[in-house]
Amino acid sequence: MVLFIVIPACRESFFKKSDMDDAIIIGAGIGGLVCGCYLAKAGMKVLIAEQHYKPGGYCTSFKRNGFIFDAAAHSFGGYREDGIVRKVFEDLEIDKRVEITRFDPSDIIITPDYKVSFWTDLDETINDFQTAFPEESNNVKNFFNFLINPDTMFLARMRSWTFKNLIDKYFRNYKLKAILSFPIFGNGALPPSKISAFIGAKIFTEFLIDGGYYPVGGMQTLSNALAESFKEYGGELQLSSPVKKIKVINKEAKGVFIKNGEFIASKYVISSCDARQTFINLLGKKMVDQDFLNKLNHMIPSLSMFVLYLGMDKNFNPKQNIGSNIWYLPHYSIEKMYLAAANRNINNLSEYMVRISSDKKSILAFINTSCRNKIYWINNKNKLIESFITKLTQIIPDISKNIIFKDAATPYTLYRYTLNYRGAAYGWASTPSQLADPDFRKPSFIQGLYLTGHWSTQGLGIPGVTYLGYNTANLLIKKEKTKK
Ligand SMILES: Cc1cc2nc3c(=O)[nH]c(=O)nc-3n(C[C@H](O)[C@H](O)[C@H](O)COP(=O)(O)OP(=O)(O)OC[C@H]3O[C@@H](n4cnc5c(N)ncnc54)[C@H](O)[C@@H]3O)c2cc1C
Repeated sequence: MVLFIVIPACRESFFKKSDMDDAIIIGAGIGGLVCGCYLAKAGMKVLIAEQHYKPGGYCTSFKRNGFIFDAAAHSFGGYREDGIVRKVFEDLEIDKRVEITRFDPSDIIITPDYKVSFWTDLDETINDFQTAFPEESNNVKNFFNFLINPDTMFLARMRSWTFKNLIDKYFRNYKLKAILSFPIFGNGALPPSKISAFIGAKIFTEFLIDGGYYPVGGMQTLSNALAESFKEYGGELQLSSPVKKIKVINKEAKGVFIKNGEFIASKYVISSCDARQTFINLLGKKMVDQDFLNKLNHMIPSLSMFVLYLGMDKNFNPKQNIGSNIWYLPHYSIEKMYLAAANRNINNLSEYMVRISSDKKSILAFINTSCRNKIYWINNKNKLIESFITKLTQIIPDISKNIIFKDAATPYTLYRYTLNYRGAAYGWASTPSQLADPDFRKPSFIQGLYLTGHWSTQGLGIPGVTYLGYNTANLLIKKEKTKK
Protein backbone atom coordinates (compact mmCIF):
# COMPACT_ATOMS: atom_id res chain seq x y z
CA MET A 1 0.00 0.00 0.00
CA VAL A 2 1.52 3.35 -1.00
CA LEU A 3 -0.72 5.92 0.62
CA PHE A 4 1.03 9.14 1.58
CA ILE A 5 4.61 7.91 1.31
CA VAL A 6 6.76 10.86 0.28
CA ILE A 7 9.27 10.19 -2.49
CA PRO A 8 11.95 12.71 -3.57
CA ALA A 9 10.83 15.69 -5.67
CA CYS A 10 11.77 15.74 -9.34
CA ARG A 11 14.50 17.77 -10.97
CA GLU A 12 13.47 20.38 -13.49
CA SER A 13 13.95 20.56 -17.27
CA PHE A 14 15.05 16.97 -17.73
CA PHE A 15 12.95 16.32 -20.82
CA LYS A 16 13.22 17.58 -24.36
CA LYS A 17 10.04 19.01 -25.91
CA SER A 18 8.65 17.41 -29.07
CA ASP A 19 5.47 18.05 -31.10
CA MET A 20 3.62 15.18 -29.51
CA ASP A 21 2.48 15.68 -25.92
CA ASP A 22 4.36 13.66 -23.35
CA ALA A 23 1.25 13.37 -21.23
CA ILE A 24 -2.43 14.18 -21.46
CA ILE A 25 -4.32 14.42 -18.21
CA ILE A 26 -8.09 13.98 -18.25
CA GLY A 27 -9.61 16.26 -15.61
CA ALA A 28 -8.40 19.37 -13.80
CA GLY A 29 -9.47 18.39 -10.29
CA ILE A 30 -6.83 18.70 -7.56
CA GLY A 31 -5.42 15.25 -8.50
CA GLY A 32 -4.99 16.15 -12.19
CA LEU A 33 -3.64 19.64 -11.49
CA VAL A 34 -1.01 18.46 -9.01
CA CYS A 35 0.08 15.68 -11.35
CA GLY A 36 0.23 18.12 -14.28
CA CYS A 37 2.28 20.65 -12.32
CA TYR A 38 4.99 18.13 -11.38
CA LEU A 39 5.21 16.71 -14.90
CA ALA A 40 5.36 20.17 -16.53
CA LYS A 41 7.86 21.35 -13.90
CA ALA A 42 10.07 18.38 -14.84
CA GLY A 43 10.07 19.64 -18.43
CA MET A 44 7.46 17.32 -19.92
CA LYS A 45 4.99 18.62 -22.50
CA VAL A 46 1.65 18.25 -20.75
CA LEU A 47 -1.95 19.02 -21.65
CA ILE A 48 -4.81 18.92 -19.15
CA ALA A 49 -8.24 18.61 -20.80
CA GLU A 50 -11.09 19.62 -18.49
CA GLN A 51 -14.77 19.34 -19.41
CA HIS A 52 -15.92 22.15 -17.06
CA TYR A 53 -15.28 25.83 -17.81
CA LYS A 54 -13.26 26.22 -14.60
CA PRO A 55 -10.55 24.11 -12.97
CA GLY A 56 -10.96 22.34 -9.60
CA GLY A 57 -13.56 19.55 -9.93
CA TYR A 58 -15.06 19.22 -6.44
CA CYS A 59 -12.71 21.99 -5.29
CA THR A 60 -14.46 24.94 -6.95
CA SER A 61 -16.50 27.94 -5.81
CA PHE A 62 -19.39 29.79 -7.48
CA LYS A 63 -21.15 33.12 -7.12
CA ARG A 64 -24.95 33.54 -6.72
CA ASN A 65 -26.83 36.73 -5.82
CA GLY A 66 -23.57 38.30 -4.65
CA PHE A 67 -22.65 35.36 -2.36
CA ILE A 68 -19.60 33.20 -2.97
CA PHE A 69 -20.07 29.53 -2.08
CA ASP A 70 -17.63 26.64 -2.10
CA ALA A 71 -19.37 24.07 -4.26
CA ALA A 72 -18.27 20.94 -2.36
CA ALA A 73 -14.86 20.77 -0.61
CA HIS A 74 -14.72 23.52 2.02
CA SER A 75 -11.49 22.95 4.01
CA PHE A 76 -8.50 20.65 3.89
CA GLY A 77 -5.91 18.89 6.03
CA GLY A 78 -2.40 17.52 5.67
CA TYR A 79 -0.81 20.97 5.96
CA ARG A 80 1.35 20.46 9.08
CA GLU A 81 5.13 20.97 8.77
CA ASP A 82 5.73 17.53 7.23
CA GLY A 83 2.22 17.15 5.76
CA ILE A 84 1.83 16.05 2.13
CA VAL A 85 -0.27 19.06 1.12
CA ARG A 86 2.27 21.52 2.56
CA LYS A 87 5.15 19.72 0.83
CA VAL A 88 3.35 19.84 -2.54
CA PHE A 89 2.20 23.46 -2.14
CA GLU A 90 5.76 24.49 -1.27
CA ASP A 91 7.25 22.54 -4.20
CA LEU A 92 4.74 24.16 -6.57
CA GLU A 93 4.87 27.57 -4.88
CA ILE A 94 1.13 27.53 -4.24
CA ASP A 95 1.88 28.91 -0.78
CA LYS A 96 3.16 32.09 -2.51
CA ARG A 97 -0.04 32.52 -4.53
CA VAL A 98 -2.62 31.76 -1.84
CA GLU A 99 -2.84 32.67 1.82
CA ILE A 100 -3.83 29.67 3.91
CA THR A 101 -5.62 30.20 7.24
CA ARG A 102 -6.55 27.63 9.85
CA PHE A 103 -9.69 27.52 11.98
CA ASP A 104 -9.39 26.44 15.59
CA PRO A 105 -11.16 24.21 16.42
CA SER A 106 -11.34 22.65 12.99
CA ASP A 107 -14.23 20.36 13.91
CA ILE A 108 -16.82 20.34 16.69
CA ILE A 109 -19.09 17.38 17.40
CA ILE A 110 -22.36 18.11 19.16
CA THR A 111 -24.68 15.38 20.47
CA PRO A 112 -27.66 15.56 22.86
CA ASP A 113 -25.17 14.83 25.73
CA TYR A 114 -21.74 16.08 24.66
CA LYS A 115 -19.73 18.71 22.84
CA VAL A 116 -16.15 17.77 21.89
CA SER A 117 -13.76 19.58 19.56
CA PHE A 118 -10.68 18.95 17.47
CA TRP A 119 -8.26 21.75 18.35
CA THR A 120 -5.01 22.84 16.73
CA ASP A 121 -3.37 21.71 19.97
CA LEU A 122 -3.75 17.92 20.11
CA ASP A 123 -3.44 17.90 23.93
CA GLU A 124 -6.50 20.13 24.11
CA THR A 125 -8.41 17.70 21.87
CA ILE A 126 -7.37 14.74 24.02
CA ASN A 127 -8.40 16.70 27.11
CA ASP A 128 -11.84 17.43 25.62
CA PHE A 129 -12.46 13.73 25.00
CA GLN A 130 -11.08 12.72 28.42
CA THR A 131 -13.30 15.25 30.20
CA ALA A 132 -16.37 13.97 28.35
CA PHE A 133 -15.45 10.30 28.96
CA PRO A 134 -13.32 10.13 32.14
CA GLU A 135 -13.67 6.33 32.40
CA GLU A 136 -11.99 6.03 28.97
CA SER A 137 -9.23 8.53 29.77
CA ASN A 138 -6.25 6.19 29.20
CA ASN A 139 -7.84 4.68 26.12
CA VAL A 140 -8.32 8.13 24.60
CA LYS A 141 -4.64 8.90 25.17
CA ASN A 142 -3.53 5.54 23.73
CA PHE A 143 -5.77 5.91 20.68
CA PHE A 144 -4.46 9.36 19.74
CA ASN A 145 -0.89 8.22 20.45
CA PHE A 146 -1.38 5.32 18.07
CA LEU A 147 -2.71 7.69 15.39
CA ILE A 148 0.24 10.03 15.50
CA ASN A 149 2.92 7.33 16.03
CA PRO A 150 1.50 4.28 14.27
CA ASP A 151 3.33 0.99 14.63
CA THR A 152 4.22 -0.18 11.09
CA MET A 153 3.63 -3.85 11.88
CA PHE A 154 0.27 -3.05 13.39
CA LEU A 155 -0.64 -0.89 10.38
CA ALA A 156 0.14 -3.81 8.06
CA ARG A 157 -2.08 -6.11 10.17
CA MET A 158 -4.84 -3.49 10.00
CA ARG A 159 -5.08 -3.82 6.21
CA SER A 160 -8.11 -6.09 6.38
CA TRP A 161 -9.64 -4.39 9.41
CA THR A 162 -12.63 -2.09 9.53
CA PHE A 163 -12.63 1.06 11.63
CA LYS A 164 -15.01 -0.76 14.01
CA ASN A 165 -12.31 -3.39 14.64
CA LEU A 166 -9.91 -0.56 15.49
CA ILE A 167 -12.13 1.42 17.88
CA ASP A 168 -13.42 -1.77 19.54
CA LYS A 169 -9.81 -2.54 20.38
CA TYR A 170 -9.45 0.79 22.20
CA PHE A 171 -12.87 1.71 23.63
CA ARG A 172 -15.90 0.34 25.47
CA ASN A 173 -18.31 3.29 25.64
CA TYR A 174 -20.68 3.10 22.67
CA LYS A 175 -21.38 6.85 22.72
CA LEU A 176 -17.67 7.63 22.49
CA LYS A 177 -17.28 5.13 19.67
CA ALA A 178 -20.15 6.80 17.78
CA ILE A 179 -18.67 10.28 18.32
CA LEU A 180 -15.30 9.12 16.97
CA SER A 181 -16.97 7.37 14.02
CA PHE A 182 -19.22 10.26 13.04
CA PRO A 183 -16.63 12.46 11.25
CA ILE A 184 -15.31 9.26 9.64
CA PHE A 185 -18.82 8.72 8.24
CA GLY A 186 -18.95 12.36 7.10
CA ASN A 187 -15.47 12.36 5.55
CA GLY A 188 -15.48 8.80 4.22
CA ALA A 189 -19.21 8.14 3.67
CA LEU A 190 -19.15 4.71 5.33
CA PRO A 191 -20.07 3.51 8.83
CA PRO A 192 -17.41 2.02 11.17
CA SER A 193 -18.41 -1.57 10.29
CA LYS A 194 -17.62 -0.96 6.60
CA ILE A 195 -14.85 1.62 6.28
CA SER A 196 -11.25 0.44 6.18
CA ALA A 197 -9.41 1.01 9.49
CA PHE A 198 -6.50 2.36 7.49
CA ILE A 199 -8.65 5.03 5.82
CA GLY A 200 -10.39 5.78 9.14
CA ALA A 201 -6.99 6.38 10.75
CA LYS A 202 -5.94 8.55 7.78
CA ILE A 203 -9.10 10.64 8.13
CA PHE A 204 -8.08 11.30 11.74
CA THR A 205 -4.49 12.24 10.94
CA GLU A 206 -5.11 14.15 7.69
CA PHE A 207 -8.59 15.69 8.19
CA LEU A 208 -9.20 16.02 11.95
CA ILE A 209 -5.97 16.19 13.95
CA ASP A 210 -4.41 18.28 11.17
CA GLY A 211 -7.53 19.80 9.59
CA GLY A 212 -9.33 23.13 9.32
CA TYR A 213 -7.09 24.80 6.70
CA TYR A 214 -8.75 27.19 4.29
CA PRO A 215 -7.50 29.29 1.35
CA VAL A 216 -8.39 32.97 1.81
CA GLY A 217 -10.87 33.86 -0.95
CA GLY A 218 -12.43 30.40 -1.16
CA MET A 219 -11.54 26.94 -2.45
CA GLN A 220 -11.49 28.12 -6.07
CA THR A 221 -8.38 30.21 -5.31
CA LEU A 222 -6.53 26.96 -4.59
CA SER A 223 -7.51 25.36 -7.89
CA ASN A 224 -6.81 28.60 -9.77
CA ALA A 225 -3.37 28.82 -8.14
CA LEU A 226 -2.55 25.25 -9.20
CA ALA A 227 -3.78 26.04 -12.73
CA GLU A 228 -1.59 29.17 -12.84
CA SER A 229 1.50 27.28 -11.63
CA PHE A 230 0.83 24.56 -14.20
CA LYS A 231 0.72 27.12 -17.01
CA GLU A 232 3.85 28.85 -15.73
CA TYR A 233 5.71 25.53 -15.85
CA GLY A 234 4.76 25.35 -19.53
CA GLY A 235 1.64 23.17 -19.27
CA GLU A 236 -1.42 23.72 -21.44
CA LEU A 237 -4.84 23.76 -19.79
CA GLN A 238 -7.86 23.37 -22.09
CA LEU A 239 -11.12 24.15 -20.30
CA SER A 240 -14.58 23.22 -21.68
CA SER A 241 -12.84 20.29 -23.39
CA PRO A 242 -14.40 16.96 -22.48
CA VAL A 243 -12.36 13.95 -23.51
CA LYS A 244 -14.59 11.61 -25.51
CA LYS A 245 -12.30 8.67 -26.24
CA ILE A 246 -8.86 7.31 -25.43
CA LYS A 247 -7.18 6.00 -28.57
CA VAL A 248 -5.60 2.57 -28.16
CA ILE A 249 -3.42 0.75 -30.70
CA ASN A 250 -2.07 -2.71 -29.88
CA LYS A 251 -3.08 -2.38 -26.24
CA GLU A 252 -1.22 0.89 -25.86
CA ALA A 253 -2.83 4.29 -25.17
CA LYS A 254 -1.81 6.71 -27.91
CA GLY A 255 -3.74 9.88 -27.08
CA VAL A 256 -7.28 11.20 -26.75
CA PHE A 257 -10.14 12.59 -28.81
CA ILE A 258 -11.71 15.71 -27.36
CA LYS A 259 -15.23 17.06 -27.88
CA ASN A 260 -14.92 18.34 -31.46
CA GLY A 261 -13.31 15.10 -32.64
CA GLU A 262 -9.81 16.58 -32.51
CA PHE A 263 -7.17 13.94 -31.80
CA ILE A 264 -4.29 14.78 -29.50
CA ALA A 265 -1.42 12.30 -29.52
CA SER A 266 0.58 11.62 -26.39
CA LYS A 267 2.97 9.16 -24.89
CA TYR A 268 1.02 8.78 -21.64
CA VAL A 269 -2.67 9.22 -20.87
CA ILE A 270 -3.45 9.92 -17.23
CA SER A 271 -7.08 9.74 -16.27
CA SER A 272 -7.92 11.87 -13.26
CA CYS A 273 -11.67 11.51 -13.67
CA ASP A 274 -14.28 8.91 -12.77
CA ALA A 275 -12.93 5.35 -13.24
CA ARG A 276 -16.12 3.82 -14.69
CA GLN A 277 -16.17 6.56 -17.31
CA THR A 278 -12.47 5.94 -18.02
CA PHE A 279 -12.85 2.21 -18.62
CA ILE A 280 -16.38 1.89 -20.01
CA ASN A 281 -16.79 5.07 -22.06
CA LEU A 282 -13.34 6.43 -22.82
CA LEU A 283 -11.49 3.15 -23.39
CA GLY A 284 -14.56 1.10 -24.34
CA LYS A 285 -15.48 -2.31 -22.89
CA LYS A 286 -13.69 -4.17 -25.72
CA MET A 287 -10.36 -2.75 -24.59
CA VAL A 288 -10.88 -3.79 -20.97
CA ASP A 289 -9.78 -7.13 -19.59
CA GLN A 290 -12.89 -9.26 -18.88
CA ASP A 291 -11.93 -10.12 -15.27
CA PHE A 292 -11.26 -6.48 -14.57
CA LEU A 293 -14.59 -5.50 -16.14
CA ASN A 294 -16.40 -7.99 -13.88
CA LYS A 295 -14.62 -6.52 -10.89
CA LEU A 296 -15.44 -2.97 -12.02
CA ASN A 297 -19.12 -3.84 -12.34
CA HIS A 298 -19.18 -5.00 -8.73
CA MET A 299 -17.28 -2.07 -7.26
CA ILE A 300 -19.30 0.15 -4.89
CA PRO A 301 -18.98 3.94 -5.13
CA SER A 302 -18.96 6.12 -2.03
CA LEU A 303 -22.18 7.90 -1.09
CA SER A 304 -22.93 11.31 -2.49
CA MET A 305 -24.10 14.43 -0.63
CA PHE A 306 -26.92 16.93 -0.51
CA VAL A 307 -25.29 20.33 -0.06
CA LEU A 308 -27.25 23.33 1.20
CA TYR A 309 -26.06 26.86 0.33
CA LEU A 310 -27.48 29.74 2.39
CA GLY A 311 -26.82 33.47 1.95
CA MET A 312 -27.34 35.44 5.17
CA ASP A 313 -28.32 39.07 5.80
CA LYS A 314 -26.21 41.67 7.64
CA ASN A 315 -27.98 41.03 10.95
CA PHE A 316 -26.84 37.42 11.10
CA ASN A 317 -24.67 37.18 14.18
CA PRO A 318 -24.33 33.52 15.18
CA LYS A 319 -23.01 32.39 18.56
CA GLN A 320 -21.48 29.29 16.99
CA ASN A 321 -17.82 29.11 15.91
CA ILE A 322 -17.23 30.49 12.45
CA GLY A 323 -15.11 28.50 9.97
CA SER A 324 -15.30 25.29 12.04
CA ASN A 325 -17.02 22.17 10.74
CA ILE A 326 -19.86 21.66 13.21
CA TRP A 327 -21.14 18.07 13.24
CA TYR A 328 -24.58 17.37 14.68
CA LEU A 329 -25.08 13.80 15.91
CA PRO A 330 -28.67 13.33 17.14
CA HIS A 331 -28.28 9.65 18.17
CA TYR A 332 -25.49 7.13 18.52
CA SER A 333 -26.10 4.65 15.71
CA ILE A 334 -23.90 5.55 12.74
CA GLU A 335 -24.88 2.21 11.22
CA LYS A 336 -28.54 3.31 11.09
CA MET A 337 -27.53 6.66 9.62
CA TYR A 338 -25.62 4.89 6.88
CA LEU A 339 -28.56 2.58 6.11
CA ALA A 340 -30.93 5.55 5.83
CA ALA A 341 -28.50 7.32 3.50
CA ALA A 342 -27.74 4.21 1.43
CA ASN A 343 -31.46 3.38 1.19
CA ARG A 344 -32.05 6.84 -0.26
CA ASN A 345 -34.33 7.83 2.59
CA ILE A 346 -33.27 11.45 2.73
CA ASN A 347 -36.36 12.52 4.69
CA ASN A 348 -35.20 10.34 7.59
CA LEU A 349 -31.72 11.80 7.65
CA SER A 350 -31.13 13.63 10.89
CA GLU A 351 -27.37 14.07 11.20
CA TYR A 352 -25.44 16.75 9.31
CA MET A 353 -22.38 18.98 9.17
CA VAL A 354 -22.70 22.76 9.00
CA ARG A 355 -20.11 25.48 8.44
CA ILE A 356 -20.59 29.23 8.84
CA SER A 357 -18.22 31.24 6.62
CA SER A 358 -15.65 33.42 8.39
CA ASP A 359 -17.38 36.62 7.15
CA LYS A 360 -20.74 35.23 8.42
CA LYS A 361 -22.25 35.95 5.01
CA SER A 362 -22.94 32.34 4.08
CA ILE A 363 -23.57 28.85 5.42
CA LEU A 364 -22.83 25.46 3.91
CA ALA A 365 -24.46 22.32 5.25
CA PHE A 366 -24.00 18.71 4.16
CA ILE A 367 -25.88 15.42 4.48
CA ASN A 368 -24.59 12.12 3.10
CA THR A 369 -27.05 10.54 0.72
CA SER A 370 -27.15 8.23 -2.26
CA CYS A 371 -27.96 9.06 -5.83
CA ARG A 372 -31.47 9.13 -7.29
CA ASN A 373 -32.56 10.17 -10.73
CA LYS A 374 -32.77 13.74 -12.00
CA ILE A 375 -36.60 13.83 -11.80
CA TYR A 376 -36.58 12.83 -8.12
CA TRP A 377 -34.29 15.71 -7.27
CA ILE A 378 -36.24 18.19 -9.40
CA ASN A 379 -39.43 17.19 -7.54
CA ASN A 380 -37.93 17.08 -4.06
CA LYS A 381 -35.10 19.60 -3.92
CA ASN A 382 -37.11 22.53 -2.54
CA LYS A 383 -38.85 20.37 0.07
CA LEU A 384 -35.49 19.06 1.18
CA ILE A 385 -34.03 22.56 1.40
CA GLU A 386 -36.85 23.56 3.77
CA SER A 387 -36.59 20.46 5.96
CA PHE A 388 -32.80 20.83 6.12
CA ILE A 389 -33.16 24.44 7.30
CA THR A 390 -35.56 23.26 10.03
CA LYS A 391 -32.98 20.67 11.13
CA LEU A 392 -30.30 23.36 11.31
CA THR A 393 -32.29 25.20 14.03
CA GLN A 394 -30.94 22.55 16.46
CA ILE A 395 -27.54 24.25 16.10
CA ILE A 396 -28.47 27.77 14.94
CA PRO A 397 -31.90 28.39 16.54
CA ASP A 398 -32.91 31.62 14.78
CA ILE A 399 -31.33 30.83 11.40
CA SER A 400 -34.54 31.25 9.34
CA LYS A 401 -35.02 34.96 9.96
CA ASN A 402 -31.62 35.89 8.43
CA ILE A 403 -31.70 33.78 5.25
CA ILE A 404 -31.89 35.86 2.07
CA PHE A 405 -30.71 33.25 -0.43
CA LYS A 406 -31.09 29.47 -0.49
CA ASP A 407 -30.16 26.79 -2.95
CA ALA A 408 -28.76 23.27 -2.91
CA ALA A 409 -26.65 20.82 -4.87
CA THR A 410 -28.10 17.33 -5.15
CA PRO A 411 -26.07 14.22 -6.05
CA TYR A 412 -27.25 14.82 -9.61
CA THR A 413 -25.81 18.38 -9.54
CA LEU A 414 -22.48 17.01 -8.28
CA TYR A 415 -22.49 14.45 -11.09
CA ARG A 416 -23.40 17.06 -13.73
CA TYR A 417 -20.52 19.37 -12.84
CA THR A 418 -17.79 16.76 -12.39
CA LEU A 419 -19.06 13.55 -14.08
CA ASN A 420 -18.26 11.63 -10.89
CA TYR A 421 -20.32 8.42 -11.05
CA ARG A 422 -23.56 8.86 -9.03
CA GLY A 423 -22.14 12.11 -7.65
CA ALA A 424 -19.89 10.00 -5.40
CA ALA A 425 -18.15 12.28 -2.91
CA TYR A 426 -14.95 10.26 -2.45
CA GLY A 427 -14.55 7.93 -5.46
CA TRP A 428 -14.89 4.25 -4.58
CA ALA A 429 -16.21 3.37 -1.13
CA SER A 430 -13.16 2.84 1.10
CA THR A 431 -13.95 -0.70 2.28
CA PRO A 432 -10.95 -2.97 3.05
CA SER A 433 -11.67 -5.06 -0.07
CA GLN A 434 -11.71 -2.02 -2.39
CA LEU A 435 -8.52 -0.49 -1.03
CA ALA A 436 -5.24 -0.05 -2.94
CA ASP A 437 -6.09 -2.11 -6.03
CA PRO A 438 -3.09 -1.69 -8.40
CA ASP A 439 -5.28 -2.03 -11.53
CA PHE A 440 -6.89 1.30 -10.63
CA ARG A 441 -3.50 3.05 -10.73
CA LYS A 442 -1.86 1.33 -13.70
CA PRO A 443 -4.17 -1.06 -15.55
CA SER A 444 -2.10 -4.11 -16.51
CA PHE A 445 -3.97 -4.64 -19.81
CA ILE A 446 -3.24 -1.21 -21.43
CA GLN A 447 0.24 0.27 -21.71
CA GLY A 448 0.72 4.00 -21.26
CA LEU A 449 -2.50 4.50 -19.26
CA TYR A 450 -2.43 5.65 -15.63
CA LEU A 451 -5.15 6.66 -13.20
CA THR A 452 -4.84 9.20 -10.43
CA GLY A 453 -7.31 11.07 -8.17
CA HIS A 454 -9.92 9.71 -5.80
CA TRP A 455 -11.09 6.82 -8.04
CA SER A 456 -7.72 5.14 -7.96
CA THR A 457 -8.55 3.33 -4.65
CA GLN A 458 -5.59 4.76 -2.77
CA GLY A 459 -6.67 8.01 -1.18
CA LEU A 460 -9.55 10.40 -0.79
CA GLY A 461 -10.18 14.05 -0.10
CA ILE A 462 -7.76 16.83 -0.87
CA PRO A 463 -4.78 15.34 1.04
CA GLY A 464 -5.34 11.94 -0.61
CA VAL A 465 -5.58 13.21 -4.19
CA THR A 466 -2.74 15.69 -3.68
CA TYR A 467 -0.53 12.77 -2.70
CA LEU A 468 -1.78 10.68 -5.64
CA GLY A 469 -1.20 13.44 -8.20
CA TYR A 470 2.33 13.87 -6.86
CA ASN A 471 3.00 10.13 -6.77
CA THR A 472 1.69 9.45 -10.30
CA ALA A 473 3.85 12.25 -11.71
CA ASN A 474 6.92 10.88 -9.95
CA LEU A 475 6.27 7.37 -11.28
CA LEU A 476 6.29 8.70 -14.86
CA ILE A 477 9.28 10.97 -14.33
CA LYS A 478 11.30 8.08 -12.90
CA LYS A 479 10.19 5.81 -15.76
CA GLU A 480 11.31 8.37 -18.33
CA LYS A 481 14.65 8.87 -16.64
CA THR A 482 15.43 5.15 -16.55
CA LYS A 483 14.75 4.97 -20.31
CA LYS A 484 17.42 7.58 -21.11
C1 LIG B 1 -19.94 17.79 -1.12
C2 LIG B 1 -18.49 17.39 -0.95
C3 LIG B 1 -17.75 17.96 0.07
C4 LIG B 1 -16.40 17.61 0.24
N1 LIG B 1 -15.66 18.22 1.21
C5 LIG B 1 -14.35 17.98 1.31
C6 LIG B 1 -13.53 18.74 2.20
O1 LIG B 1 -14.01 19.68 2.86
N2 LIG B 1 -12.21 18.44 2.29
C7 LIG B 1 -11.64 17.44 1.53
O2 LIG B 1 -10.44 17.20 1.67
N3 LIG B 1 -12.38 16.72 0.65
C8 LIG B 1 -13.71 16.99 0.51
N4 LIG B 1 -14.46 16.30 -0.42
C9 LIG B 1 -13.80 15.28 -1.27
C10 LIG B 1 -12.85 15.94 -2.25
O3 LIG B 1 -13.45 17.11 -2.76
C11 LIG B 1 -12.51 14.98 -3.39
O4 LIG B 1 -12.09 13.72 -2.88
C12 LIG B 1 -11.38 15.53 -4.27
O5 LIG B 1 -11.55 16.91 -4.51
C13 LIG B 1 -11.35 14.76 -5.58
O6 LIG B 1 -10.38 15.30 -6.44
P1 LIG B 1 -10.07 14.61 -7.84
O7 LIG B 1 -9.11 15.49 -8.53
O8 LIG B 1 -9.72 13.18 -7.64
O9 LIG B 1 -11.47 14.55 -8.63
P2 LIG B 1 -12.53 15.66 -9.05
O10 LIG B 1 -12.49 16.82 -8.14
O11 LIG B 1 -13.81 14.95 -9.23
O12 LIG B 1 -11.99 16.14 -10.47
C14 LIG B 1 -12.19 15.38 -11.65
C15 LIG B 1 -12.23 16.35 -12.81
O13 LIG B 1 -12.34 15.62 -14.02
C16 LIG B 1 -13.21 16.35 -14.90
N5 LIG B 1 -13.72 15.41 -15.91
C17 LIG B 1 -14.56 14.36 -15.72
N6 LIG B 1 -14.76 13.72 -16.88
C18 LIG B 1 -14.02 14.36 -17.82
C19 LIG B 1 -13.83 14.18 -19.23
N7 LIG B 1 -14.40 13.17 -19.91
N8 LIG B 1 -13.03 15.05 -19.88
C20 LIG B 1 -12.43 16.08 -19.25
N9 LIG B 1 -12.60 16.31 -17.92
C21 LIG B 1 -13.37 15.45 -17.22
C22 LIG B 1 -14.27 16.90 -13.98
O14 LIG B 1 -14.98 17.97 -14.55
C23 LIG B 1 -13.42 17.30 -12.77
O15 LIG B 1 -12.97 18.63 -12.88
C24 LIG B 1 -15.80 16.65 -0.63
C25 LIG B 1 -16.56 16.08 -1.67
C26 LIG B 1 -17.90 16.45 -1.84
C27 LIG B 1 -18.69 15.89 -2.97
